Amino acid sequence: MSKPLQVKHLHTDVLIIGGGTAGCYAALTISRNSGLNILVAEKANIKRSGCLAAGVNAINAYIVKGRRPLLADAVYKSENVDVLNYVNITDLLTENGRVYGAVGFSIMEETAYVIHAKAVLIATGGAAGLYKPNNPGFSRHKMWYPPFNTGAGYTMGIRSGAEMTTFEMRFIALRCKDTIAPTGTIAQGVQAKQVNSKGEVYEHIYGLTTSQRVYGTVKENQLGHGPCYLKTSGITSEQDQDLLKAYLNMAPSQTLKWIESGKMPSEQDVEIQGTEPYIVGGHTASGFWVDTRRETTIHGLYAAGDVAGGCPQKYVTGALAEGKIASLAIIEQLKDDHSEETSEIEKQAQMILADYEKIRNGENGLFTIDELEEAMQKVMDEYAGGIASNYQFNEKQLNLAEEKITRLSELADQVGAEDMHELLFAYELKERLLVCQVLIEHLKNRKETRWHSFNENLDYPETDQKFEKYVNSRMEDGKIRILFRDLVKGDTYEHTNS
Ligand SMILES: Cc1cc2nc3c(=O)[nH]c(=O)nc-3n(C[C@H](O)[C@H](O)[C@H](O)COP(=O)(O)OP(=O)(O)OC[C@H]3O[C@@H](n4cnc5c(N)ncnc54)[C@H](O)[C@@H]3O)c2cc1C
Repeated sequence: MSKPLQVKHLHTDVLIIGGGTAGCYAALTISRNSGLNILVAEKANIKRSGCLAAGVNAINAYIVKGRRPLLADAVYKSENVDVLNYVNITDLLTENGRVYGAVGFSIMEETAYVIHAKAVLIATGGAAGLYKPNNPGFSRHKMWYPPFNTGAGYTMGIRSGAEMTTFEMRFIALRCKDTIAPTGTIAQGVQAKQVNSKGEVYEHIYGLTTSQRVYGTVKENQLGHGPCYLKTSGITSEQDQDLLKAYLNMAPSQTLKWIESGKMPSEQDVEIQGTEPYIVGGHTASGFWVDTRRETTIHGLYAAGDVAGGCPQKYVTGALAEGKIASLAIIEQLKDDHSEETSEIEKQAQMILADYEKIRNGENGLFTIDELEEAMQKVMDEYAGGIASNYQFNEKQLNLAEEKITRLSELADQVGAEDMHELLFAYELKERLLVCQVLIEHLKNRKETRWHSFNENLDYPETDQKFEKYVNSRMEDGKIRILFRDLVKGDTYEHTNS
């Protein structure tokens, strides 16, 4: 039996969960515009975490030598901001539709944290690792989205009864084969066209949005015209050098691949493929159902960046903007806030802490965390529109996926953890499984195909112009309930927190 975790109770005005793009910028904004205390809880280290650590070239391009404004440095220099690095938050503390804080644990020390807060901002990014990835075994984490963003924020919200939106709009990136390096730099930088194995340009047949570019590539492969490429052969030697340098900066493995093969891009086309699907509100629209001020349907709980839904194509600048919008709303809310937590909150915290001890003291059941993760990815791949099924699915397959993911979720409740790192992995597995469950429900309920590949519903292969609704969901008594919401027209949207 392991020694019980040391429990630290912390009090703050604002808790920010996730110190990536949106979280760090929110901390700066609140610090600069109020005297509120801010605590940032980050499962990695804010110096290098989340999407920005995974590599973002479109912003770096504007930052010149000697003037690299590192968000993390600015956060450390800000007044009233404390940072808890290597602390993984697992659960929110809520009562009567209002948030009062959150509970988490250190990955480095045998310490748990019960954090009491007047307002909470969730900025934990999206969810990777739900589907079987492009690369196997040792290289399986060589994926487009950071594998450490496991959908924790979505899960915390779902379990607390927050409304979620548009999970069925998955994101699939079109990447260079094997290296999973970006393709946009080649398509835009040297105007390379997408061609099939016969050398025929096919992109104009299917369209040029990301979803159409992925769809076209899948279709050409299905027609027996694969592999597909970005046609770089014939570019100039100067363009060769530009591409080598550009990739060395953002995705070095692609540059190494060119060098290793002994052929420059001008001598060989670049093979392309779609990644496995992700849930990420910064690219598509999956995430918390938020109002214009980025408040979720739980009062006092805000969401920003990839975890916030309903607003696609936000990317870095959108995450910054949402971090700012949410921060200013929090400052406003706390000017006139007199809510007090009750003893119910402490009871909730004790139950969460008991769950940590149960996993720490548990022996692995039939399967290990890794085995269950692999099984989950295989189910999603084959029955919920992964790479193996060309991103397509029908209702029968989704029903099978649901049944199997439910069973895996039961098995995931039997895993044990030998140390704090394994405790983290146990939670990451549970987070992914719950996101999968909600995703499957959403896929079933959009009875049309609105975004090729992102939701390719074989029972309803056409877009239904009458289906102009958000597919939303909420967990009630342990069951996922689907709600359809009308499109919001005009520039503000307020929900009722009911
Ligand atoms: C490879 C790649 C390339 C991209 N390229 C571009 C580009 O060129 N231009 C552009 O504008 N956008 C780009 N984007 C998108 C952009 O980077 C993201 O939309 C944006 O950074 C998301 O910010 P965020 O704060 O929501 O998430 P993140 O910055 O990922 O932050 C989430 C943070 O939450 C932490 N966290 C997660 N779970 C927990 C938990 N349970 N407890 C505590 N902390 C937790 C994570 O460790 C992470 O630090 C790219 C994204 C990727 C993945």
